Amino acid sequence: MNKTVQTNVDAAEIAKFSDLAHRWWDPNGEFRPLHEINPLRLAWINGLAPLRSLQVLDVGCGGGILTEAMARAGANVTGIDLSTKALRVAQMHAMEVQTENLVYEECSAEDLADRCPQSFDVVTCMEMLEHVPDPASVVQACANLVKPGGWVFFSTINRNLKSFLMAIVGAEYVLRILPRGTHEYAKLVKPSELAAYCRQADLNLCESRGMSYNPLTQRFALNNDSSVNYLIATRKSRAFSS
Ligand code: SAH
Repeated sequence: MNKTVQTNVDAAEIAKFSDLAHRWWDPNGEFRPLHEINPLRLAWINGLAPLRSLQVLDVGCGGGILTEAMARAGANVTGIDLSTKALRVAQMHAMEVQTENLVYEECSAEDLADRCPQSFDVVTCMEMLEHVPDPASVVQACANLVKPGGWVFFSTINRNLKSFLMAIVGAEYVLRILPRGTHEYAKLVKPSELAAYCRQADLNLCESRGMSYNPLTQRFALNNDSSVNYLIATRKSRAFSS
């Protein structure tokens, strides 16, 4: 981790992702769900905010699955994370597949927001809010990082009985598509909570999508059911407000 004192970070969460770092790019490994959902989320983001030539920030980028795909779609992408190992893997993979327009940096969203406010056309923060102690602070940092009128995309997991049964019991214990302990129930984020964090940060909700998994076909799809996995698209107001 870098020298700045990090406050909004759970070291155990970072260790969890660092331990699995060598597995990021195995399409049949622990991160298979992220590989599977990647074309869906990329197409959704690109449909709302055509990425070509835009300045994009990917917060909590991990091994770079979405980061790289956005660079290949023509964006100039910066990926940030606090897992040194995940970033190393991300950097090596980008070199291997010769993806350009892509840089990685080890820092938190809050730190980067202090250094480079209003610098990006699009900010993505996917499957990360449910791993931090204070998700509202990350949402605020993302809002500070995006330019006025720019887009901020989040995805996370809802917190209710169904999401507990599907995303934790089902995915980690029954189907075993995720390692046990990947998600903690108490840290999951309800859409109403995320909407409130966005409102506080002057991000206007534009669209939301749910995500479903069919265990028979082993396929993910986007739908309108946000009861388990969901994504939201928000936009910062054009007029500057502090
Ligand atoms: N966004 C990627 C990876 C999601 S996994 C994708 O969807 O493909 C969650 C990632 O969040 C991990 O790489 C983990 O190291 C990172 N993370 C967790 N807490 C963080 C924090 N406080 N700051 C930055 N990254 C964090």
